[in-house]
Amino acid sequence: MEIAIFWLRRDLRLNDNAALYHALISGMPVLPIFIFDTHILNKLNDKADRRVSFIHQTLTDIQSQLRSLGSDIYAHYGTPSEAFAALLQKYTIAKVFTNHDYEPYALHREATITCQLENVGATLHTYKDHVIFEKNEITKDDGKPYTVFTPYSKKWRAKYAPSYTEPYPCDANYNAFLKATLPDLPSLQHMGFAPDRRSTPSPLVPIDIIKNYTQNRDIPSLRGTSQLGVHLRFGTISIRQLATHASAHNDTFLSELIWRDFYQQILHHFPHAAQGAFKPQYNRIVWSDNTDHFQRWSQGQTGVPIVDAGMRELNATGFMHNRVRMIVANYLTKILFINWQWGEAYFAEKLLDFDLAANNGGWQWAAGTGSDAAPYFRIFNPQLQTERFDPQHLYIKKWVPEYQEFGYPTPIVDFKIGRDNALKQYKQYLNPDNSNGTAIG
Ligand code: FAD
Repeated sequence: MEIAIFWLRRDLRLNDNAALYHALISGMPVLPIFIFDTHILNKLNDKADRRVSFIHQTLTDIQSQLRSLGSDIYAHYGTPSEAFAALLQKYTIAKVFTNHDYEPYALHREATITCQLENVGATLHTYKDHVIFEKNEITKDDGKPYTVFTPYSKKWRAKYAPSYTEPYPCDANYNAFLKATLPDLPSLQHMGFAPDRRSTPSPLVPIDIIKNYTQNRDIPSLRGTSQLGVHLRFGTISIRQLATHASAHNDTFLSELIWRDFYQQILHHFPHAAQGAFKPQYNRIVWSDNTDHFQRWSQGQTGVPIVDAGMRELNATGFMHNRVRMIVANYLTKILFINWQWGEAYFAEKLLDFDLAANNGGWQWAAGTGSDAAPYFRIFNPQLQTERFDPQHLYIKKWVPEYQEFGYPTPIVDFKIGRDNALKQYKQYLNPDNSNGTAIG
């Protein structure tokens, strides 16, 4: 009997899922699979990585759901090639269905599996699922990709229509799942990981958070944002469902989802940005290699209260408020003059909602190296940012309990000295002919 495979990756749900829907209506019994990919897992330094626990728990729930339908999930711990080799031994696979993923490793993995499947006459079918618009769906009139957000978002909004957010009716077709009884998922311990039982933000957001998003989203001491990043990253909620909700209740919130699409299409069209500056001339910069400063930044010990609060929130929870992400990223790159890629890598290790496209976009925006970036001479003053967004120091005191207005350690680098140095250096590297270092901003 020929079967279809539904390969779960960053879309860990059985409802409103494009690839799953197409598998279920393919006319073949469908076997869902998940690969605990050692190419990815072996690179994680933290063997209590919370994201691994989150994925494992989500898949355990999916396995229960499938078992209640008389089906199951096939989980493999190893490389994707090994997983498919084992599956091809056991089943006659005609088609594999999966959703798009634009990250460089995902594309490489997909190319390998496509060849492996072709050797046995099977085919791989991929679908748009985790964004509203992708690849070339929103382009300039000449067909070229946008690199600036505002015109991109205008086109996005002009094209946006209910047909793009209609849910895929997977549940009406659940009878197409393969009847099977398979082993339990490999345990976390078996894969060398310890469980992290800290709770994850709920996928159900109180409606008031979305309704009041515009006025509250920049205040880090409030619960003013959705905290849905992790669910969007791993697909435990559907972007179509969320966008429908956003467009009904809050336009600013919808804009953030458009930013998300924007960075995904940047990664698709400009994969070089994952390895270095989007604007190549910024690769000329020789950054400070002060590892002591980097260490202090990462541990929340810079002597700059808002920066320290943000880094401590990240280290303790795997989350950091967006406003504070901008402040700490700006501080690392434009005051300590440390390579944004060090910060990018640190966030990649720590953020529960880590997403290559958004993280890379956020860091390049902060460093001035990105597609639609803050120019290098626009430098946040952490003191002024605090006065604006945390005037009563509520956020700071939550994460830096020893904070006192007088008596907090002196900053490791004085704002003005750091800022002037960064401006001089940026200017020198970007305009090698002009080395007098006159500041613009
Ligand atoms: P909300 O404000 O409730 O927004 C809803 C969703 O919209 C988010 O969950 C996210 O999916 C999307 N979104 C919001 N803002 C942005 C944005 N600027 N760019 C892209 N998508 C956005 N976001 C990530 O999802 N993963 C990352 O790894 C990441 N790294 C970042 C690094 C830096 C230096 C900066 C400045 C920003 C980064 N962001 C990242 C964007 C943003 O900070 C987070 O999406 C947001 O803070 C997540 O919290 P939330 O879910 O409460 O967001």
